[in-house]
Amino acid sequence: MPIYEFVCQSCHTPFEKFVLSARDAKDILCPRCGSSSVKKVVSSFSCCSSRSGQGGMPTATCGTTRFG
Ligand SMILES: [Zn+2]
Repeated sequence: MPIYEFVCQSCHTPFEKFVLSARDAKDILCPRCGSSSVKKVVSSFSCCSSRSGQGGMPTATCGTTRFG
């Protein structure tokens, strides 16, 4: 989902914006004060989802099955 979180460095207002590419991120303006001094924030949930993807639970469950 290409929705990034930003924080305005002028009024410190956090907001989310739909960004298609990194180029568009440079043209992001603060919806509150209209300042272009916004900082991109790395979403925390994206970090967690990548971790859960490495879980070995399905493999462990399959390993318990014995054949002969
Ligand atoms: Zn602002």
